[in-house]
Amino acid sequence: MSAGAHECTRCGACCVAPDIAALDKPLGLVCPHLGPDALCTAYESRPEVCRSYAPDELCERIAAPTLEERVAKYLAHFQLTAEAVAVKASGLTSRAALFARRSA
Ligand code: SF4
Repeated sequence: MSAGAHECTRCGACCVAPDIAALDKPLGLVCPHLGPDALCTAYESRPEVCRSYAPDELCERIAAPTLEERVAKYLAHFQLTAEAVAVKASGLTSRAALFARRSA
């Protein structure tokens, strides 16, 4: 590892907080492949976007005892809290369906 590189803390937040097009996963919703131990249950077949995701200083900055808290800190960092609340309130679990509704 090079100096300044960051280790994955296995916190699970990057499998919940971001919008992931390759998985049709909306912002703030748990990836269906995330296991209860916050590890990927589809590790061998996970999409490229997950394979290439690199830990950075945010991983340490959002450290918290629960996955829910880590996700909340991640979303707040990118000022996406309100949008994630709106996604949850919509009841839609498909990113494509959310975008279709927004552009209708
Ligand atoms: S496929 Fe695996 S690594 Fe990718 S977001 Fe889902 S749980 Fe995380």
